[in-house]
Amino acid sequence: MNIALIAHDSKKELMVQFCIAYSGILSRHNLCATGTTGRFITEATGLNIFKFLSGSQGGDQQIGARIACNEIDLLIFMRDPNNHGKNEPDVSNILRLCDVHNIPVATNIATAEALIHALERGDLDWRNIVNPKK
Ligand code: PGA
Repeated sequence: MNIALIAHDSKKELMVQFCIAYSGILSRHNLCATGTTGRFITEATGLNIFKFLSGSQGGDQQIGARIACNEIDLLIFMRDPNNHGKNEPDVSNILRLCDVHNIPVATNIATAEALIHALERGDLDWRNIVNPKK
């Protein structure tokens, strides 16, 4: 499956810890991330991650475009709910596209854990039918 990872600055450490904890599962999938998030995760875990541009350079929108093309099967977006509107249009657009394409998305650690266990159990394998290229 193609898994996209994005974390706002205040959530990057949380994302790194999450990826350390679940690196065994994540390593069996195709991973991509916004630039800085991806670099932090790779440095901490050694996971192989395709890195888009950093968020400030349009990386979120690059991932949004992949979602629009139905090329992402799961999105983990550790967002900062106290961002006070900063990047809010980008966040709303990405979450909307996930809804358009029925893509499982987590925006906090609790849902991310639930989805990673679902992924491991095979509960998300229906995405292989929707998106048989993977
Ligand atoms: P970054 O982008 O991983 O390059 O920091 C994420 C974001 O939109 O904040």
